Amino acid sequence: MASKMASCIFCKIIKGEIPCFKLFESDKTLAFLDINPLSKGHALVIPKIHGEKLTDIPDDHLTEILPIAKKLVVATGAQEYNILQNNGRGAHQEVGHVHFHMIPKPNAQEGLGIGWPQQ
Ligand code: C5P
Repeated sequence: MASKMASCIFCKIIKGEIPCFKLFESDKTLAFLDINPLSKGHALVIPKIHGEKLTDIPDDHLTEILPIAKKLVVATGAQEYNILQNNGRGAHQEVGHVHFHMIPKPNAQEGLGIGWPQQ
């Protein structure tokens, strides 16, 4: 586990070793804009504890994830959006640290990525 954490790109983002556009942070959760967005405002919400798949993460490290994803949806003004979470290569997971995508559909209001609630 320790070596996977050392090479994990999202663990490096959590530690501040790689920059991100941060949207929300608490002791257990981080949200930031996806570096290669599928739409304007595409965000990732992740537990800070390292785990590859959803089933690797203790329940008490997951409690903020969906409420934060909801808050980000509201901040975009999007009426339509996807919340996605991939587990395993065969399920299109590229980064081996649990993450939830929040992907607004293109009808979202202008100004995304600027007026996000910082906490
Ligand atoms: O679910 P999946 O593993 O395929 O998605 C990984 C996501 O992480 C991609 O959307 C990618 O753009 C994003 N990413 C990022 N910042 C990085 C590396 C990957 O936002 N430094």
